[in-house]
Amino acid sequence: MPFSKLGLSQPIVDGVKAMGYVDPTPIQLRAIPLILEGTDVIGSAQTGTGKTAAFGLPILSKLGEHQPAPRVLILEPTRELAAQVETAFRDFARFTNLRVAVVYGGVGYGRQTDALKEGVDVLVATPGRLLDHIEQGTCRLNQIQYVVLDEADRMLDMGFLPDVRRIVEKCPRARHTSLFSATVPVQIETLIQWAMRTPQTIEIGARRSPAETVKHALYPVAESQKSDLMLELLNRVNYDSVIVFCRTKHGADSIANLLKKHNHAVAVLHSNRTQREREQALEGFREGKYEVLVATDIAARGLDIADVSHVVNYDVPQHPEDYVHRIGRTGRAQATGDALTIMIAEDATHVFAIERYIGKKILREKIEGFDYKYTAIFDEGKPGALSPHERKVKAVRVRGGYYFGPSVRRRR
Ligand code: AMP
Repeated sequence: MPFSKLGLSQPIVDGVKAMGYVDPTPIQLRAIPLILEGTDVIGSAQTGTGKTAAFGLPILSKLGEHQPAPRVLILEPTRELAAQVETAFRDFARFTNLRVAVVYGGVGYGRQTDALKEGVDVLVATPGRLLDHIEQGTCRLNQIQYVVLDEADRMLDMGFLPDVRRIVEKCPRARHTSLFSATVPVQIETLIQWAMRTPQTIEIGARRSPAETVKHALYPVAESQKSDLMLELLNRVNYDSVIVFCRTKHGADSIANLLKKHNHAVAVLHSNRTQREREQALEGFREGKYEVLVATDIAARGLDIADVSHVVNYDVPQHPEDYVHRIGRTGRAQATGDALTIMIAEDATHVFAIERYIGKKILREKIEGFDYKYTAIFDEGKPGALSPHERKVKAVRVRGGYYFGPSVRRRR
């Protein structure tokens, strides 16, 4: 079914056409009619499924002409997501006179306050800064008709739920509320019961599985060789653009420096960088100025970075959901992509948890010609090989390192 048959207003259908979207994605097909008829929607879909348009198009269609007070409020967990959603809304609404503004922390108040004074229809915000504006009297929510709580599980992780509640309490009761969340833990369930009215749930695909078009591979290696292996991987794979995920900000900085030394064009994205640095990193990466983006998990959730050919997990994520979110950067909108994860022996339990979570075993790969110091790491799962627990115990027994197994013993 084309966009023009879904009941959207003509300027919005034109906006979508101008963006080059031809057919609605499954979540759009299901959410658009529901939101248009005024039903509260809970959307649980993989990232990259087109959820921004799924809520954006019907809401904008309903707004009609510009009015001075905000009628739509979209809460996002991070500034990057907020900025991204604002841009998408501006694009969708390009053939209307509706105004969109974004407010988030880490930057001055001036431009945000001016935009609010001039009058906006759609306000995209992170919770903390929005509360500041409300307290300063620069923003009122008493005309809000649509609230969208996007990436609700992320807002929960970041400790924003009390702020979200305070904000929603300031919106009129007679409103439509939509909530999008990859997972629905009990706190979100409570929020749903409190904030929404007889919502309908839309679940697209298996909630846990990453895009089918992504090829997964694990690269076991000794910890001391992680960075060599990563450099080798980048030399060998034919990538257009790659995101390298690290567990810590410090780790991200040192990987970025190493990659720069090896002549890769690199940008870094993590929460210790200034807003300006983060924007420049994202923009440069999107434009192709940087071929590698080194990021911590904050960048993984929902960021719309199109055409990432490869995701490299320099560190195995400690939460299986983060694996799915990281991998969500590649293989978007039916394109294929590769997800390469570097693992050390200590990661075994996390890897098993990820495999259980996504419901499939990830292939272990060996790079031919790479000078592996230890090969016992490839014995996992073979008859007679040690279990992760046994390995750990042995590892403790072998002084000076945690690589063990036959090859280490032979060396000694
Ligand atoms: P989202 O899940 O909203 O972050 O969207 C993921 C990506 O898919 C974005 O780059 C969108 O511009 C793109 N997208 C969303 N809907 C469609 C569609 N119907 N056709 C083609 N691309 C789309």
